[in-house]
Amino acid sequence: MTKILIIYTGGTIGMINDPSNGMLIPFDFEQIKDNVPELSRLDYDLDVHSFNPVLDSSNMDPEIWKTIAELIYSKYDLYDGFVILHGSDTMAFTASALSFMLENLGKPVILTGSQLPIGEIRTDAKENLITALEIAATKENGQALVPEVCIYFDAQLFRGNRSIKYNSEKFEAFRSPNYPVLAEAGVHLQFNKNDMLNAPDGKLNLRTNFNSNIGVLKLYPGITPQAVQAITDSKVDAIILETFGSGNTTTAEWFLDSLRSAISKGKIIIDISQCKKGSVQLGRYETSRELQKMGVLSGYDLTFEATVTKLMFVMGLKLSVEDSSKLMEKSIRGELSHD
Ligand code: ASP
Repeated sequence: MTKILIIYTGGTIGMINDPSNGMLIPFDFEQIKDNVPELSRLDYDLDVHSFNPVLDSSNMDPEIWKTIAELIYSKYDLYDGFVILHGSDTMAFTASALSFMLENLGKPVILTGSQLPIGEIRTDAKENLITALEIAATKENGQALVPEVCIYFDAQLFRGNRSIKYNSEKFEAFRSPNYPVLAEAGVHLQFNKNDMLNAPDGKLNLRTNFNSNIGVLKLYPGITPQAVQAITDSKVDAIILETFGSGNTTTAEWFLDSLRSAISKGKIIIDISQCKKGSVQLGRYETSRELQKMGVLSGYDLTFEATVTKLMFVMGLKLSVEDSSKLMEKSIRGELSHD
């Protein structure tokens, strides 16, 4: 029988209302099970690993990503697939982080959650959970059909490291603006096999070392030297520059000098766009030519979530600046579009 491990980390899906103050607080897996009697009708062998305590996903961090990845790695041969129940707020970060940590993944790791707790009548949790389990169990010619880390939400399956939380109110909480949806659940589960990662050649390999000493510099018209230099002159090892349009910034000399000075001290700077759709194209406009010349890296069409986690992951590999830079600019888990 198909075996699936459910990893319950927390999130709205399992929350209940605290009667003393009306706030939503995470609760244990038993109440999820009680609210989804359909679980016992599924033709799979389900095991549950529950976090203790369970978390609102705003409290996730690299140590917890590591715990999840280690759990999957240690149980990898025992299960056909893994479903992670997780708060939606930082689900795209965890999905991205897992995709980088689990090299040569050949089985589905599907994250899901919900916008309404499972105990509420109009909840979206049941469909999300049941279909995520179905996707994790799907095989073709004896092989897992989805050999990657994905997010399943509101009838759509997305590549994890291409996903963003897009809406905090609608059931359609996620999108992957720069990559096609990998499956749609209607009357049938329709998989888009052409855009899925290929099954790996090698054995699963786990790397869990993250360096979270990074900074983020989001540009806006009127940004001051003090605001920029608070990041460029700080002790961070790498900087994500969130730029305009296709990767453009002010061409003010003080600004460019601040970046040059950071690069000369060995910091990596990577340029991603504030636009959700489209790609950075350094050198397309005069307002990005100097960035390219001084060695700012292009994040192409990376999401912010994938950039943060990939940068922490790559910096954790302790490579030379040159090798780290090369890795940042190429796709290692299908996270960016560039040859
Ligand atoms: N605050 C919740 C969390 O991320 C929201 C959710 O689960 O959708 O844990």
